[in-house]
Amino acid sequence: MSNKETKNKKISFPHMGTISHAWASALKVVGCEPYVQPYTSKKALSLGTKHAPEAICLPYKLILGNFIEAIEGGTDYVAMITAPGCCRLGEYGKCIHNALTDLGYEAKYLELQLYDGVKGLYDFLKIASGKNNYLLFTKAIMIFILKIFLLDKLESQLSYYRAREIKFGDAEKQYNKCLKMIDEYNTVSGIKKAEKIMLEEMAKVEIDKDREVLNVDITGEIYVVNDEFSNQNIEKELGRMGVEVRRSLTVSSFLKDAVIPKQFRKGETHLQRANRLAKPYLMRDIGGDALECVSDVAYANERGIDGIIHVSPFTCMPEIMSQNIFPAMRETCEIPILPLILDEQTGRAGYITRIEAFVDLMRRRKRKQKMEAKSADKEPQSESTAV
Ligand code: SF4
Repeated sequence: MSNKETKNKKISFPHMGTISHAWASALKVVGCEPYVQPYTSKKALSLGTKHAPEAICLPYKLILGNFIEAIEGGTDYVAMITAPGCCRLGEYGKCIHNALTDLGYEAKYLELQLYDGVKGLYDFLKIASGKNNYLLFTKAIMIFILKIFLLDKLESQLSYYRAREIKFGDAEKQYNKCLKMIDEYNTVSGIKKAEKIMLEEMAKVEIDKDREVLNVDITGEIYVVNDEFSNQNIEKELGRMGVEVRRSLTVSSFLKDAVIPKQFRKGETHLQRANRLAKPYLMRDIGGDALECVSDVAYANERGIDGIIHVSPFTCMPEIMSQNIFPAMRETCEIPILPLILDEQTGRAGYITRIEAFVDLMRRRKRKQKMEAKSADKEPQSESTAV
């Protein structure tokens, strides 16, 4: 792509949670025009489902739907992330490109190699912008990474406040205000400033600090874990029930493992922890996020978390494997596990009922544990009185 050709060319990426705020900023820095299609909706789902093989996993259908909406909305380029590996993600790019061509869409297609780290990002920006400017690309990559970390931090804040808010919806209102603010800061120092302002904004939510809040980890396939449309906004539902949610499988944790050079990261990464904790149950990476999911269960159990929810797309091969390992983990892990499988047929009512039943189970278990702990505290006392 020449410099002249890229002027005002619109580039679109698929949605996954709030990631569009980060890639749109990076594209702006290098002089491209980000085209952010409407957030994934039933329309995108039905477009993707109509033109995708029936048994392919849900993220493929949603990404295809996003691209069709983007092209129909006027983007010139659609950019797809690709990765080698044991699951279908390695084939997604080619299949989506073919599907779009077969449908007669003329938008051009770009690829971002996920596992090439910083080089992958750099090469992508070079092709997208038609430039080769080291300083400019370094700035764009830094902004992309910092925004991803900020977005993840903001989501953790939302989860904390949502589980404790006095007036339902307050935390989300503040969160949405902060999300809009993120787009206004496009420098490294600006993002740091934005973080401070956002934390202050979130702290304005009135909360009940004494509420009995449950702590739940969510794991599964990274796309459905992080994308609220595909997981039917599970975190909002849990928050409504007084549950604080935590995710290890975030885009920032992925960046730490696959993009950020070793010398710039602190502590054990998610993948390093996965290799350490999953070993007794799963010896090697079998694609997707299976290794991380198995280790997330062990990690949540180790920390005494109230429960863990595993979300995965129907027919996702690595997650079928991890779900089959969970029963064996019960021998050493006492934590309640709720596996939820998602596809375009998933009915909302049944889905919510399962989550409510799980929350109810965790709450009763927690109260029982507290009562047992209390009576265990009392017992030695009565013995000493008897002596
Ligand atoms: S991890 Fe699962 S859902 Fe994701 S691309 Fe691979 S098979 Fe599909």
